[in-house]
Amino acid sequence: MPLNIIVCIKWVPNTQIVNIDPNTGTLIREGVPSIINPHDLNAVEMALRLKEKYGGVVTAVSMAPMSAKTGLEFVIGMGVDRAILVSDRVFAGADTLATSYTLSKVIEKLRPFDILIFGQETIDSSTAHIGAQTASWLRVPYLYYVVDVEYINGVVRATRRLEKKIEVYELPTPCLLAVAMKSNEPRPVKLSHKLRAKMENVIEVWTNNEVGLKRECIGLRGSPTVVEKCIVTPSVPRKKQRFDGQDVREAVKWLVDRLIEDEGLKII
Ligand SMILES: Cc1cc2nc3c(=O)[nH]c(=O)nc-3n(C[C@H](O)[C@H](O)[C@H](O)COP(=O)(O)OP(=O)(O)OC[C@H]3O[C@@H](n4cnc5c(N)ncnc54)[C@H](O)[C@@H]3O)c2cc1C
Repeated sequence: MPLNIIVCIKWVPNTQIVNIDPNTGTLIREGVPSIINPHDLNAVEMALRLKEKYGGVVTAVSMAPMSAKTGLEFVIGMGVDRAILVSDRVFAGADTLATSYTLSKVIEKLRPFDILIFGQETIDSSTAHIGAQTASWLRVPYLYYVVDVEYINGVVRATRRLEKKIEVYELPTPCLLAVAMKSNEPRPVKLSHKLRAKMENVIEVWTNNEVGLKRECIGLRGSPTVVEKCIVTPSVPRKKQRFDGQDVREAVKWLVDRLIEDEGLKII
């Protein structure tokens, strides 16, 4: 039986150039270019390798503003067959609970599915909650840090890499796997695939009309998380002291003296 694989990707602000609003402590997202969460490209690559090896269809799902169409075109360019952009103002302001709830309801509409593939975490919020929470809503087994996967006689055999050991698990389908970052080399876009994204209208946009969720369960209204303290950029005052001598021994002694006198360092 061909596999029905769903891969979830997040459209994130490029955090290398993002700043924090000093008054509200939130990310300044306006005017910041967005990208596909880089770790989700490892998830896409794993999904495509499974499809190539065992046959099937790969569907990408992203809950994001309309600008994420560019990201979905990119993954279709990599070889994804179908993409669903879940986009509606009522989904905005969602915490991880409301995000995972919405994603799980979208995924339920795509039944029957065999393997759900998520990234390890995002580069903007990086909670790594969404995979586990979505699996929990859907009541499917979940495995994190997956680096390799096979599908043998209807069973998913997934390898995960921990700090000091490698573990191999067998999971029934459907199941959800979160792929370890950098566990593979995501393939480049193929022009023929990318043209398909433009010509064949393979990106579907689902608003809440299609998903049909209660307003109190989604977006800001469905989000119990309260940010009590804003993110602050720590200021690190520098004393700008400089040793101007040439001798290394003297320099080390000077540095140790400074650490003892100025910073209260104790030598035991
Ligand atoms: C009160 C509050 C309001 C917020 N408002 C907003 C807001 O308006 N806009 C906003 O962007 N964020 C908002 N956030 C942050 C938002 O909750 C998280 O970004 C989101 O829930 C995903 O969490 P994460 O980035 O930590 O994902 P992780 O758990 O680190 O992600 C793991 C994996 O889950 C998948 N995934 C995660 N998010 C999505 C998604 N949206 N679509 C598809 N797959 C996904 C990806 O495969 C990803 O690699 C808000 C948070 C709070 C607490």
